[in-house]
Amino acid sequence: MEAIAHQGSRTPREFGGPLGAAALMLLLPATVFHLLLVARSGPARLLGPPPYLPGLGALWSPPALLLWLAWLGLQLALYFLPARKVAEGLELKDKSRLQYPINGFRALVLTALLLGLGVSAGLPLGVLPEMLLPMAFAVTLTAFLFSLLLYLKALVAPASALAPGGNSGNPIYDFFMGKELNPRICFLDLKYFCELRPGLIGWVLINLALLVQEAELRGSPSLAMCLINGFQLLYVGDALWHEEAVLTTMDITHDGFGFMLVFGDLAWVPFTYSLQAQFLLHHPQTLGLPMASFICLIKAIGYYIFRSANSQKNTFRKNPSDPSVAGLETIATATGRQLLVSGWWGWVRHPNYLGDIIMALAWSLTCGTSHLLPYFYVLYFTALLVHREARDEQHCLQKYGLAWAKYCRQVPYRILPYIY
Ligand code: NDP
Repeated sequence: MEAIAHQGSRTPREFGGPLGAAALMLLLPATVFHLLLVARSGPARLLGPPPYLPGLGALWSPPALLLWLAWLGLQLALYFLPARKVAEGLELKDKSRLQYPINGFRALVLTALLLGLGVSAGLPLGVLPEMLLPMAFAVTLTAFLFSLLLYLKALVAPASALAPGGNSGNPIYDFFMGKELNPRICFLDLKYFCELRPGLIGWVLINLALLVQEAELRGSPSLAMCLINGFQLLYVGDALWHEEAVLTTMDITHDGFGFMLVFGDLAWVPFTYSLQAQFLLHHPQTLGLPMASFICLIKAIGYYIFRSANSQKNTFRKNPSDPSVAGLETIATATGRQLLVSGWWGWVRHPNYLGDIIMALAWSLTCGTSHLLPYFYVLYFTALLVHREARDEQHCLQKYGLAWAKYCRQVPYRILPYIY
């Protein structure tokens, strides 16, 4: 373990090292609360101060904590239902492969059915928007606690289980980045569970509750609210339908499970990604059919690029002789793996990010152009993906060396052809 920690100290520290990590641990929760407060305020100013600073009484609520724990319990129970398939992850340092249940989409459908039953039995879904602030507080507290337990668990994990990046020896940095790559309790893979279930399904649940509240307030949901719900449900449904693809993403294969991913998965995703629906509830927008059709077209283009690029790489990584990818041009690397240099991955080096950003733009446009606030998502997300792309470049350069440099020469643009 010491050898790894020593190795880690030589690897470059990301996110500005311990200071950057400490700042992010304050800034990320503060941003979540800022957005929650601003979305419901009249001026809805992204850059201005929040309308008020909530006291502990407005943040701390035992029912909100109980609701959050019940939600976590439900998603855990659904995780343990028999899976339609058990998939293998990529090979680990010790040459083993972990197994993962593929039943996330079923969890989404069963959650929807249970919710439908609950609502028909009188469950007041429309009160959820009123609980967002204390819910976010409860989730933030549990994210800190959970990350601490993960940190302690990693202290006794074998060296082969540690992540490449979160073992610098600095506790603040390692707490943030995550020390252990795939922490597990028996068959429960904690990172895999958190990546796609409580936060992601929670996001569409919050959206739906906002739609219900809007219908209660104004008689029917607006077109903009319906579009946002539909677009984001498609995004979440797609992620869960292609759940297996998460096994080849950076989050699973490279990053340790620490505060960055815990908070991101459990708090950031549901509370900030639902910002557009929160904004629409308090700032109704009139969306004409021509504009709505135009936005749907942008969303469809983004989705097409995002899905085809991700599926192409995933199929190639799983089985390079699959007929859909066998004809593509490749570069051999010293690791024995190949890099695609034609198809989507010969167009730009991260076509999937481009598709994702185009979809993000469609979501923001749905909220009109009167406020900057709903554009927070596309702005933040572009910055996230640009930064993520740079991190991935570094990892790939370390992994593939000259072959990666050759790929970059052949495919010079990172995300946006001829521009970036
Ligand atoms: P990618 O799925 O793009 O994975 C990057 C990896 O792909 C590289 O490390 C490399 O790994 C492999 N790769 C890169 N180039 C090639 C090539 N030419 N040929 C073959 N393999 C290649 O990255 P992410 O995990 O960041 O993203 C996955 C998806 O998730 C994206 O669509 C992204 O937009 C989305 N996302 C969404 C977020 C959200 O909050 N909504 C947040 C982050 C991501 P190797 O060679 O080891 O296989």
